[in-house]
Amino acid sequence: MTGIGEAVAAVRGAYALARSAKDITDKVKLDTAVSEVLDALGNAQSALLELQQQHFELIDENRELKAKMSREERFDQYRLKETPQGGFILELKDEYVTADNPPHNICPVCKEEGKLSVMPKGRNHYSCSACDYSAEHTQPVWPV
Ligand SMILES: [Zn+2]
Repeated sequence: MTGIGEAVAAVRGAYALARSAKDITDKVKLDTAVSEVLDALGNAQSALLELQQQHFELIDENRELKAKMSREERFDQYRLKETPQGGFILELKDEYVTADNPPHNICPVCKEEGKLSVMPKGRNHYSCSACDYSAEHTQPVWPV
């Protein structure tokens, strides 16, 4: 991986070579100096192109991370809650309850996969609408 320091050093090197070559009068020495300057500029160009590539990769990575963060922020509205029967669900926090967002629970298993799945409350269980996970909230009453 090329660093910015390397690219700057390559440009500086080319500059120093060009500067020391400007007073050369001997044709052979001048040709050699020009060739060295061109080599140094070529190195600088390669280093800069590699930096540009890294820059684009970082922009992509940054975009992906931001998208991932905003997906995960949705889950900040929920808290883990244990049901009376020892099951676990994620309950919408009171401060996020609005007319458009009534109290509800979501699935902790789906959350781990980045999915927000509502768990409707059945007679004895909260059951995930997307996976097999369920959490018992009331002991079933068996006929005696
Ligand atoms: Zn689920």
